[in-house]
Amino acid sequence: MPTRADANTDTPEAVTGWQNWSRSLPPQRAQIVTPKDTAQLAKLIRETEGGVRPVGSGHSWTGLVPSDGAIVKLDNFNAVGAVDSQSKTAWLGAGARLKDLSPQLAAHGLAFRNLGDIDVQSLAGATSTATHGTGRDLQCLAAEIRGVKMITGAGEALEVSARQNTALLPAVQVALGALGVLTEIEMQLVARHKLHRRVWFAPYRQVLADAEQLWADNRNFEFFYLPFSDTAMCITHNLTEAEDTPRNLDESDDAVMQLKALRDWLGWFPYLRKKLLAAAISGAPEEDVVGESWQLLSSARNVPFNEMEFHLPVSEALDALEEVRAHIERHRADVFFPFECRMTAQDTAWLSPFNEGPRISVAVHTHAPFGAPDEYEFLFTDIEPIFRRRGGRPHWGKLNRFSGADMRATYPQFEAFAKLRAELDPDGRLLNPYLRALFGAA
Ligand SMILES: Cc1cc2nc3c(=O)[nH]c(=O)nc-3n(C[C@H](O)[C@H](O)[C@H](O)COP(=O)(O)OP(=O)(O)OC[C@H]3O[C@@H](n4cnc5c(N)ncnc54)[C@H](O)[C@@H]3O)c2cc1C
Repeated sequence: MPTRADANTDTPEAVTGWQNWSRSLPPQRAQIVTPKDTAQLAKLIRETEGGVRPVGSGHSWTGLVPSDGAIVKLDNFNAVGAVDSQSKTAWLGAGARLKDLSPQLAAHGLAFRNLGDIDVQSLAGATSTATHGTGRDLQCLAAEIRGVKMITGAGEALEVSARQNTALLPAVQVALGALGVLTEIEMQLVARHKLHRRVWFAPYRQVLADAEQLWADNRNFEFFYLPFSDTAMCITHNLTEAEDTPRNLDESDDAVMQLKALRDWLGWFPYLRKKLLAAAISGAPEEDVVGESWQLLSSARNVPFNEMEFHLPVSEALDALEEVRAHIERHRADVFFPFECRMTAQDTAWLSPFNEGPRISVAVHTHAPFGAPDEYEFLFTDIEPIFRRRGGRPHWGKLNRFSGADMRATYPQFEAFAKLRAELDPDGRLLNPYLRALFGAA
């Protein structure tokens, strides 16, 4: 358990002990420090022995956050600052949680254009790894960044915005916390809006055949393939002016635990498993509701899991999904979490996985109960090679074994980013073992 180590008001609050959400990374003994203002933050970056790493809500699986020195939490940088209702932009505290920002933005008549499956991430954490939702014409969250204020690895204040250092905008949008610690982010927002949400089940082959059309016809479309069932769950969201409808939101873990029970009892009897899955699916509730965008797009994820997600060229993604499905159903009776399939529009951020065209993301999950996670090495040995062969780029925050050389070969602007990183953080104050390996830095 984290222990409170320092409650002195003149020094930043500090506790020790950190672990990421799924506990896939070893527990960290580093201090977690919560600076009150930019002066404290700059001092921490300059003076902490071993350097610092910024953390959001710890929802990444890759080794981005562990630190040889301290982990810096931006909880005190969480306010809604200047709002420009004309341009629908606002300066927002980089450490604010998306779920706390949405209702505050709604009070200004504004909303995020899109959100991912959850909204508990911090704004800086989510954008720094190119967190995305789904929608053929909708970009990842980082592409909506119009400006940032940060303390660089050299401990200096830097603004990148329409006013200053504008050319650096595509570098700072997706930056892994490697250029500096973001304190404020100017986001492009849209008018507060309502969505019509539909959830239904359909034969998997039919969904594969219709997927491109469903992406074209709906503002947001995604589907989950339920392994061993030949069935997919489809979800659409579309703009509407209709009245809100009551939602029987089931945030219990019953559905996923039912899939687990069928795996536990019938994993080695695929025919029976499929039969009972079909019965369970036919009784599963479908949804047809209207509500505020942010209340419908994201939901709670209470069952811990490990996840690999790759962003693939549109022409390759559904074939990759099919290869993954066939492999898992032949060799991995233990998998029961649905595979997720989403689409994201192109943007221009140097390290955005979507910067060379729209991509379809395919994600595979394994159960990770604390202390006894399901074995997931096969994600690296069996599934990652499928995604690699088909030109996939890994989600920056999710499981993958891409090396620095792999990333360099994947991203045309990787070298330019690495050069900028070395300029803004000449002494490697923001480096940790993971980033050192990624950037080949000493
Ligand atoms: C249950 C679950 C559901 C998820 N759903 C989705 C989804 O739908 N779509 C998707 O794309 N991803 C999804 N993710 C992945 C998640 O959105 C990303 O890993 C995201 O980066 C996590 O945000 P965080 O606030 O937890 O950041 P952390 O994981 O704490 O940090 C992520 C990165 O941001 C950096 N960072 C944090 N704060 C700052 C700062 N102030 N300045 C500079 N850098 C900073 C960190 O150093 C690190 O490099 C999901 C993850 C989980 C566990």
